[in-house]
Amino acid sequence: MSNVMSVEEARERVFARCRVLETEEVPLLESLGRVLAHDAVSDIDVAPFDNSAMDGYALHAADLAGASPDAPVTLDVVSHIGAGDHSELEVAPGQAARIMTGAAMPPGADSVVMVEFTEAGEADGGAGGTVRIMREPMLGEHIRRRGEEVVAGDVVLAKGEVIGAAGVGLLASTGHASVTVHRRPRVAVISTGDELVEVAELPGPGKIRNSNSYSIAAQVIAAGGVPLRYPIVGDDLDATREAFTRAAAESDFIVTSGGVSVGDFDYVKPVLEEMGELEFCKVAMRPGNPQTLGSVEGVPFFGLPGNPTSTYVGFEIFVRPALRYMQGHTALDRPRHPARLAHDVKKKQDRRYFLRARVTRTGDGVYEVALSGSQSSALLTAAHRGNCLLVLPEGEGSFAAGSDVQVVRLDMEEGIE
Ligand code: AMP
Ligand code: MG
Repeated sequence: MSNVMSVEEARERVFARCRVLETEEVPLLESLGRVLAHDAVSDIDVAPFDNSAMDGYALHAADLAGASPDAPVTLDVVSHIGAGDHSELEVAPGQAARIMTGAAMPPGADSVVMVEFTEAGEADGGAGGTVRIMREPMLGEHIRRRGEEVVAGDVVLAKGEVIGAAGVGLLASTGHASVTVHRRPRVAVISTGDELVEVAELPGPGKIRNSNSYSIAAQVIAAGGVPLRYPIVGDDLDATREAFTRAAAESDFIVTSGGVSVGDFDYVKPVLEEMGELEFCKVAMRPGNPQTLGSVEGVPFFGLPGNPTSTYVGFEIFVRPALRYMQGHTALDRPRHPARLAHDVKKKQDRRYFLRARVTRTGDGVYEVALSGSQSSALLTAAHRGNCLLVLPEGEGSFAAGSDVQVVRLDMEEGIE
């Protein structure tokens, strides 16, 4: 069956063909940006012990009632504790320990005074000497408490959370040298077309470089997948069959470019029907009306149109969310917000438009959007210069400068509201 789909229905059908991939254990750093597959529990309290938040002196707050620069209180310094040291020596009333940031609090002391509010006395304020304190601390001041971040047995990051750089830090401090996350999808990237030559070649007469293979592979990487770039497939039934067979065996998702239109040598659809399933081959959108969904040997298959911008936009709308879904993400939509149109835009077709545009914030705090170059689907420059897709709804129409329109932010990650 193949008919024209709305963008929303097409997206739902893409998701329906995908599954969340199994999990794998990876070294901690490789978990960045991925979805945690289990609750991560702390093996210790963090902080593991009460410690000083400042370089200064650990002491008894009660000794310093009324202390000020005019009326300093002198204490005996009994120890000198650096970060990583562990002093068992009791700090008695009338005494202080010189202490560094992160060092464990000594027994007895209940507060810390910053070094800036002290004056070294005998022995330069070190162990065996004296210090003049010029400030009365609050009880407990500048002490970071044991277990302030998490307590042993607490869940630090929960199953389903996306691991960012701060999350990596939390997992590290709680003993997770490796974590279990959803696997990255391997994505077969197949460009079709007799006109294509490899990028390192100078195209001869009638030929062009296979740029889609690279732009698609880059989009796969940006979506968290692992691209498998296949050699160019000519406009030939057997070559197309062979490539699809190999891709189905080696990948979790197959993306093709070109060969899905109504040209005389467009073999993607017939081969898909013959070897697998063809679900739809047209979506009511521009650019890129011939977006194609199906499967080969149960592997989801998405056929992008050949025109570079149709390829780019089609990937963004259909393939990226699918690849994120497969990795266990639940935030599947890029942020979208209203913006004021900077100039008139005319729409000639009923389909939904995704124009390549740049949105900026004006001095009065309003978002303003302008097209970022020629909207020909054969040209990629406007996509390169843009940071968003300007979405114009179905139905023909003229949109005057100043109208409210919607933009999809391609420069912001899913999950930001
Ligand atoms: P098709 O969908 O195969 O009819 O291709 C539509 C247009 O996209 C044609 O102008 C092709 O030359 C161009 N095209 C197809 N594949 C690629 C590719 N891999 N890289 C750049 N342009 C392509
Ligand atoms: Mg072609």
